[in-house]
Amino acid sequence: MSGEKWVYEYEHGSAEMKGLLGGKGANLAQMWNIGLPVPPGFIITTEACKAYWVDPRGLMDSVWPQVSDAVARLEERTGKVFGGERNPLLVSVRSGAPVSMPGMMDTILNLGLNETTVKALAEASGDERFAWDSYRRFIQMFSDVVLGLEIGEFEFLLSRAKGEQGCSYDHQLTADSLKKLVGQYLRLVESKGISFPTDPWDQLRSAVEAVFKSWNTPRAVTYRNIHKIPDDLGTAVCVVSMVYGNLGEDCGTGVCFTRDPSTGEKRLYGEFLVNAQGEDVVAGIRTPRPISDLKDAMPEVYSELVRLTDLLERHYRDMQDIEFTVERGKLYLLQTRNGKRTAKAAVKVAVDMVREGLISQEEAVKRVTPDQVEQLLHPQLDPSLKFDVLAKGLPASPGAAVGKVVFDADEAERMGKNGEDVILVRPETTPDDIHGLFAARGILTSHGGMTSHAAVVARGLGKPCVSGCEALDIDLAKGVMRVGGKEIRRHEVITIDGSRGLVAYGALPLVQPSFTEDFRELLSFADRVSKLEVWANADTPEDAERARGFGAKGIGLCRTEHMFMQADRLPVMQEMVASTDRDERLEALGKLKVMQKEDFVGIFKAMEGLPVTVRLLDPPLHEFLPKVPEMTERLEELIAQGKGDSPEACKIRVLIQRAESLKEANPMLGFRGCRLGIIYPEIYEMQVEAIFEAVVELMRQGVEVYPDIMMPLVGTYEEMRRLREMVDRMAQRFEAELGRKIPYMVGTMIEVPRAALIAGDLAKEAEFFSFGTNDLTQTTFGYSRDDAEGKFLAEYVRMHILGDNPFHVLDRSGVGRLLEIAVSEGRAQREDIQIGICGEHGGNPKSIAFCHRLGLKYVSCSPFRVPVARLAAAHAAM
Ligand code: PEP
Ligand code: MG
Repeated sequence: MSGEKWVYEYEHGSAEMKGLLGGKGANLAQMWNIGLPVPPGFIITTEACKAYWVDPRGLMDSVWPQVSDAVARLEERTGKVFGGERNPLLVSVRSGAPVSMPGMMDTILNLGLNETTVKALAEASGDERFAWDSYRRFIQMFSDVVLGLEIGEFEFLLSRAKGEQGCSYDHQLTADSLKKLVGQYLRLVESKGISFPTDPWDQLRSAVEAVFKSWNTPRAVTYRNIHKIPDDLGTAVCVVSMVYGNLGEDCGTGVCFTRDPSTGEKRLYGEFLVNAQGEDVVAGIRTPRPISDLKDAMPEVYSELVRLTDLLERHYRDMQDIEFTVERGKLYLLQTRNGKRTAKAAVKVAVDMVREGLISQEEAVKRVTPDQVEQLLHPQLDPSLKFDVLAKGLPASPGAAVGKVVFDADEAERMGKNGEDVILVRPETTPDDIHGLFAARGILTSHGGMTSHAAVVARGLGKPCVSGCEALDIDLAKGVMRVGGKEIRRHEVITIDGSRGLVAYGALPLVQPSFTEDFRELLSFADRVSKLEVWANADTPEDAERARGFGAKGIGLCRTEHMFMQADRLPVMQEMVASTDRDERLEALGKLKVMQKEDFVGIFKAMEGLPVTVRLLDPPLHEFLPKVPEMTERLEELIAQGKGDSPEACKIRVLIQRAESLKEANPMLGFRGCRLGIIYPEIYEMQVEAIFEAVVELMRQGVEVYPDIMMPLVGTYEEMRRLREMVDRMAQRFEAELGRKIPYMVGTMIEVPRAALIAGDLAKEAEFFSFGTNDLTQTTFGYSRDDAEGKFLAEYVRMHILGDNPFHVLDRSGVGRLLEIAVSEGRAQREDIQIGICGEHGGNPKSIAFCHRLGLKYVSCSPFRVPVARLAAAHAAM
């Protein structure tokens, strides 16, 4: 272990060294090296953290000589002495992981204080109150983070001190009150059987160890699970000489972003507090002032801040999130990192930076994740909706949410897991609430600003959040909140609008958002990079139009059965299903054809010039009939009313009989898909006729139509051959009538394993394949797609028997293997065969990456997912 370099000074670090120095440490080093005003400090590496887990004692003994050398150089640089009786050096000890985990791990400020140094600090600063305030903060933080004591007891003493002195704010406490408070704090620690370390070196050693350990606190582990951050990265420890934002009215501290993290607008955005330390801003205890006020409060500092933050943004070529402190009029930068932002802001910042020449189009695409695009599709309150505003707070994270008021993170988690919509309401949140924030639909806090914990985490999770809603009086003990004379109890429903910072009572209607020009532009950059096209699954002209609006390049699946489910068609469909002979069936089919043709005309028109894949009837016929118990109940009602011979009763009897005869033990593996079309050819013939009638009508009007006719659940060559023959035969008739060729194709879904295995044979007849990975997953695993999730699948994922739910994320090794076979054998038989996917996986980014690897032509997904898929397709290609 010895001989290893555990400690880095800024000179030997750079922004590229995040793995070793953590994000914070690497950026501090970078800022120092480009000459920015950063307080001197040093960094203990993530490697030290990892070694600490294996052998804590050995590591600390090996690290310590290097730490004491580094402290000695800090002393030289600052002209102060660690533990000194005059002009004492105080340091902050802060965690810094390679991946940003805001607020998740520990920080200790003002380290190095004891009975002697506090007096020296008072002398050096000329401010006794400040020195004692720093000391009491230090004891409180150290007791919380290092000694693991309950913070509430310290808060109690603090508020009692304010009461005794008759003031409301911490900064109004006098030096005497603070001195007394420090005595009480120390006695409190002692009463727990712990002696508070007075030697600064002991303090430092324990603090460093506490930061190493904080990597494994439950909240940090939960955060990593949620954000899929590996557990073995470890954290670095930054030891930085203190600068003070709480030395008086010409001091302060703040957090700012180089662009608005909610909207992406290019303007300095953030908050500050005069006469305060950094923790006061982030902790959300005092509500800070907007950064624009700094212009008046400290004009010179403000213009320096604008200059430096601009420089940082250009240096990193990304929006920065910066912490700063002003000590007696001098500005120090304490931290910079790429700022977390909402999806909306991510898009705007990326596209604006392309326009500003800072980044390439490809880089812009890379910077927005498919997950973020998904957030953009989150519901909003209709901007024109008029409603009573219950309270107004800060628009901390956009989107709207409706849910039951819950005041406790554990309860939010419990209810969220049960599928209930909850809004977590807290005075402020802390990192310990992370599980509750994750489970809630939205977050509402009465204190804290735009950069408070709740706000930052909510933006990261893409959840609506209203923060700093000071009008709320939250009574946690009683489980109520009062606002404007109204009392709202736990579990009552409210709506929050995180885009505007509004709270309303009850459930307001939510609407889907519309797309901005920036978003369209970003997606057009994405399309330039992608190899895969994105098509949509759409069954109505409206869906088709929406899909096209979202940029779909075709319809990959039009489920024709959905057309029969509509209210006006269902009775006719039931007539067809109930028919006992061919003539009756033909009559009902004749009526259905007229309706179906109308639908096709609408869809083909909406998709003019683009391919539309129409799948012939797929589900078992019993799905179109009402449930037998419901029908029986109605029949009994009619009999009781003496209407047992009425036409309705007679019809119900026929339907019940038919339902009984169609009953199957295993309908999903039963009489469905192309099996229906083979046994009752008139059904598929009607559908194909409706398609061609629509095509002919539109082609006569000069509309460009590309119908692809797709067979479901094919598993044998003979099925494919016969169905293809049927379509070709009918097409000839319509082509003769039209006097020209119709540009149609006939193909099949690949949704049973046998189809994948005999893909070469099927490709003799099929001009295209479309992977129906819903059924293919069902039939490959032998898991019912309708039942498995609630019964055992979720548990399987939790137990790591499966990595993901295979109905959400395509199983590469099993189902994926079948896809590979089908692609290679299909192509070997028919070189130009068109292959795509239309199962739900077509909208899932991980599955899309696999489809890209297979070289498919397109993925097809629901219209609302088209934008996500377009971006995912681009990411797969980069
Ligand atoms: C499939 O099985 O993947 C598919 C797209 O068809 P459906 O979901 O309609 O069964
Ligand atoms: Mg299917």
